[in-house]
Amino acid sequence: MTNNPWLSQVATVESVTQEIDSVATYQLRLDDPRAAQRYRFQPGQFNMLYLPSCGEAAISHSGPPSHDGNRFLHTIRFVGRVTDSIAKLQAGDQIGVRGPFGSAWPMRQCVGQDVVIVTGGLGLAPLRPAIYHLLQGRVDYRRVILLYGARSPGLLLYRREMESWQQSGLEVHLTVDRADIDWDGAVGIVPLLLDRLEGLRPDQTQVLTCGPEVMMHYAALAAVRLGVPKSAIWLSVERNMQCAFGMCGHCQLGPVFVCRDGPVFRYDQVHQLLKVRDL
Ligand SMILES: Cc1cc2nc3c(=O)[nH]c(=O)nc-3n(C[C@H](O)[C@H](O)[C@H](O)COP(=O)(O)OP(=O)(O)OC[C@H]3O[C@@H](n4cnc5c(N)ncnc54)[C@H](O)[C@@H]3O)c2cc1C
Repeated sequence: MTNNPWLSQVATVESVTQEIDSVATYQLRLDDPRAAQRYRFQPGQFNMLYLPSCGEAAISHSGPPSHDGNRFLHTIRFVGRVTDSIAKLQAGDQIGVRGPFGSAWPMRQCVGQDVVIVTGGLGLAPLRPAIYHLLQGRVDYRRVILLYGARSPGLLLYRREMESWQQSGLEVHLTVDRADIDWDGAVGIVPLLLDRLEGLRPDQTQVLTCGPEVMMHYAALAAVRLGVPKSAIWLSVERNMQCAFGMCGHCQLGPVFVCRDGPVFRYDQVHQLLKVRDL
């Protein structure tokens, strides 16, 4: 977007959609029309969102890669200094944006394969651009499966959209830790859905996973048990980061910088590194 990766661009909030409790999606557009026109990102990439006197937070893209008029979406959980301040923004307010940064989901490797998306909680947000991409070119892939879980039914994201995803050829399997009276789906942790998946061709499957690290760990183990090669399992590692382009070393994990070399990594490249506790 700009040649200087330290510099934020000003963007305007065009709309705010409340998703679930403490989570909302912001539609942003860069104020500079030329920058807005040039702005492109790939599924899996993130921006650094900045508010003066609060600081910056890394937030993944959650909208379609080619959104109308170069607008883009971020789905944000309000958990701390920056995100709690973002929660107060309304349509018409401004925010700083640096990016896009980081590696992308392996959309090319998915062509001709079964694709299994395994995600929990807010982890669905960074995978939503990949879902849009897969459904847009649906004939290029074999089965496309979403395994998604949350603590309770009310915490499942994008429920309204899921029906249209299913109509476009996405198999959806949901699970919750705690059911309520209206819930007739599965109860239990997300990796169990992977254990129960039938008819997968493990040697021709790509697994994309994002969510709490413990969930990704068990999802990867379940995929390996099914026979999926470690090199076909991809995780988005969301470690604490600052500069976002491999300069400051804040997110260094052994030989990799999570911000620059990730956040999307191949499991065989990082599974040993994930034993290092959060940075
Ligand atoms: C690549 C990447 C992509 C991401 N994508 C998204 C996304 O799409 N959406 C999203 O919502 N988040 C995303 N995140 C996470 C987001 O960047 C963090 O939640 C970020 O820290 C929020 O900044 P904050 O200033 O609001 O919260 P912070 O103040 O940094 O707080 C973050 C966490 O630390 C805890 N905490 C804060 N202060 C303290 C304290 N004094 N003691 C103990 N715990 C404390 C908070 O409870 C919270 O859980 C992503 C992170 C990465 C690395």
